Amino acid sequence: METQEALRLIFLGPPGSGKGAQAKIIATRNKAKHISTGDILREAAVAGTDLGLKAKKFMDAGELVPDEVLLGIVEEILSDDETARSFILDGFPRTMPQAEGLEELFGKLKVKLDCAIKLDVPDQAIVERLTARVFCASCKTDFNLRTKPPSQSGVCDNCGGPLVQRNDDRKEVIENRLKVYHDLASPIEAFYKRRGLLKVIAANRGFDEITHDILAAIS
Ligand code: AMP
Repeated sequence: METQEALRLIFLGPPGSGKGAQAKIIATRNKAKHISTGDILREAAVAGTDLGLKAKKFMDAGELVPDEVLLGIVEEILSDDETARSFILDGFPRTMPQAEGLEELFGKLKVKLDCAIKLDVPDQAIVERLTARVFCASCKTDFNLRTKPPSQSGVCDNCGGPLVQRNDDRKEVIENRLKVYHDLASPIEAFYKRRGLLKVIAANRGFDEITHDILAAIS
C-alpha cells in the first residue's frame, strides 16, 4: 500500500494573508491534518465551552488569547501520533513563547519540522481583503465581496445559508490585529530563519499561483 509522505509545516503571515485557505488546500492534497488555532477557538466560542468563553473576549478585540491556553490546545492535538506525523499549523505560533513551547513539544514528540511558510501581503491589501470577507453561518464557505462574491447578495452559493462577517473583521479590529501581528512577527520569522526553515512567498497574487509556489517550496 502506498503511504502518503509526511508533511510538517507551519504557516506564518498576517491575518488575511490567505494562510487558512492555502493551508486547507495543501493539507487536503497531502492528507495532512490542518490545525487552525483560530478555527478551534471560534468553534469553542460558538459552542460556549469554558475555553470558548475565555477566548471570545480576546478575539472580539483583536487581541491574542494567552499563550498557555494555545500551547495546551496544540499539545493536545499533536499528542495524537497520526496527527504528529503529518500536519499544517495555521495561525500558530504567534508569539515567541509559543514558538519556544512548540520547539520543546517537537523535541518531546520527536517531530522534525519541514519548513515555516510565510505568506507576505502588504497591510493596505490586508485591510481591503478583510473588510470584504464574509462566510456562510451555516456551512462556513468563505466569500469575498470584492474577489469572490456570492451570486445573490447575502446568500451562500453552496447551501443557501446567510452570509455574515467575522466579529474581528471590522476595520478598527483589523487595524489592531495587524498591529499585534507586526509587534510579534519579526522575532518568530528570525527564529525559523536561523534554523534554515523559513520560506517567504509573495501572496498578494492569484490564489493558484500562490499554491503553486508553496508546493514548489515544500517539494
Ligand atoms: P485567526 O483566525 O488565525 O485570524 O485567529 C483569530 C483570533 O483567534 C486571533 O485574533 C486571536 O484572538 C485568536 N488566536 C488564534 N490563534 C492564536 C494564537 N496562536 N495565539 C493567540 N491567539 C490566537
